[in-house]
This record gives sequence, structure tokens and C-alpha cells, in this order.
Amino acid sequence: PVAIEAIDLVKDYGRGEGIVHALRHVNVRFEQGKFTAIMGPSGSGKSTLMHVLAGLDSATAGNIYFAGSNITKLNDKQLTMLRRHEVGFIFQSFNLLPMFSAEQNILMPLTLAGAKPDRAWFDMLVNTLGLRERLGHRPNELSGGQQQRVAIARALISKPSVVFADEPTGNLDSVSSAEVLSFLKQSVRELGQTIVMVTHDSVAASYADRAIVFADGRIVADVEAPKAEQMN
Ligand code: ADP
Ligand code: ADP
Repeated sequence: PVAIEAIDLVKDYGRGEGIVHALRHVNVRFEQGKFTAIMGPSGSGKSTLMHVLAGLDSATAGNIYFAGSNITKLNDKQLTMLRRHEVGFIFQSFNLLPMFSAEQNILMPLTLAGAKPDRAWFDMLVNTLGLRERLGHRPNELSGGQQQRVAIARALISKPSVVFADEPTGNLDSVSSAEVLSFLKQSVRELGQTIVMVTHDSVAASYADRAIVFADGRIVADVEAPKAEQMN
């Protein structure tokens, strides 16, 4: 089944002289249970695509289908509900709340939704991500790799069907990056999740089932089982 489909997606920023065509009629389909990397030079439209697909920003034209329903016409409240229940986000800069412990950060999406945590799932995430001993620490007491693992646990705590990751390994060393990417890959296999990850790193992309390459607001390549050498 198709998890997300974008049809003739256009996103312009500004207007008149200063208009930027960030997405120029993009057509793309993400199968459920697949891990896709989005690559391409800075400014080519990768983040814009993710933000629009995730309903964080509206498209100028075109349609987006989420599990078969058109989300383009949803209002802000409906989009918030969709994000809360179906989508997890992982950012390059972690975006953890500094005043809260690792555990509180992980549970934040459920706290905000007024939902009860599934303790077994929480324990599985914490143990698999090696965070057991760090649960009481605040973000500034954690290494970059640990902070990103907390952010990943937070993105997965509500078992979203889709996870968007924007340069999730951009601030990590190669050892932490490999751990994070292996975990994402495993999570796709075990939960049947759909992951869309923006990355500049061809090694990171090689963990994905598929790589899409952007240039100037368009898809210029679409590769199954990408190899790091091939994506350089
Ligand atoms: P990438 O993620 O590939 O680096 P982006 O999607 O961030 O590319 O940007 C695509 C183009 O849109 C760039 O020219 C960028 O400067 C422009 N852009 C992105 N966000 C905005 C914004 N909020 N306002 C104006 N221009 C933007
Ligand atoms: P990324 O490569 O992750 O998109 P950027 O530094 O390009 O990071 O952008 C950071 C934020 O600024 C994003 O939310 C993006 O939408 C916005 N942005 C990017 N380019 C522009 C621009 N030319 N004008 C205004 N906002 C922009």
C-alpha cells in the first residue's frame, strides 16, 4: 500500500521578482514500510518537501494523499490531529525541551495528547536505544548522540505510521550516526513504518531502501537499494 503520495506538488515562497520555486510539480509516492532517503544540494527543496508532506507548511498547488485521504484541504486543527497520531519527527538539532528530563522529553507527545504511555513500548525503546541510565538527565547533560536517541524515542513513542527525519545524523559522529541509522532501519522492519529522511550523507542514504535525488525543486533521480559510492 501507498503511505504518502504527492501529485503535481508546487511550493513557491514569496511572489513577483523575489519568488522562489522550491517545488516544481513534484510527483512522488512512498510505499508503506519503506525507508527512503532524500538527497540533493542545499536549497534544492528537500526540507520544503518534507515540511509540506508532513503538513507543517501548506503547498502552493497540488495534492497530498496520506493513506489514501487527501490532506491538502484539511484545516489547521485537522492537520494537528493527523501529525499527533500518525507522524513522528526527528530534526538535525534534536529540538529537545531543555528544562525537561530525557524521560519527560520522550513522553512529551503523549503528555500533550493526554494519552497514557504503553510502558512495554517505552521500555523497549529506552533499552534498544541505550537510554536506560540517562532517563533522569536533562538534554545539556547528554552527548549529541544521546540527545538524538532521546529525540528518536520521542518520535516513536506514539508508534506513528510515518516518520520524517531532517538530517537526523547531521550533528553526530560516525559511530553515533551508524547506531541511529541501524535503529531506524530496524524500526521500519519491525513496525512496518514509513520513514522519509533528508540527508546530505551518502553513507546515511545507503541505509535506506530507496534514495530520491533533488535538484532545483525537481526529482532528478530515484534509486532502489542505494549504495554509498553510487550516491556521491
Ligand atoms: P534544502 O532542504 O534542499 O536545503 P529548502 O527546501 O530548505 O532546500 O529550500 C528550497 C528553496 O526554498 C531555497 O531556495 C530556499 O532558500 C527557499 N526557502 C526555503 N524556505 C523558505 C522560506 N521560509 N522563505 C523563503 N524561501 C525559502
Ligand atoms: P535546512 O537545510 O534544514 O532547510 P535551513 O538553514 O536551510 O535548514 O533553513 C532553516 C529554516 O529556515 C527552515 O525552516 C526553512 O524553511 C527556512 N528558510 C530556508 N531558506 C529560507 C529563506 N531563503 N528565507 C526564509 N526562510 C528560509
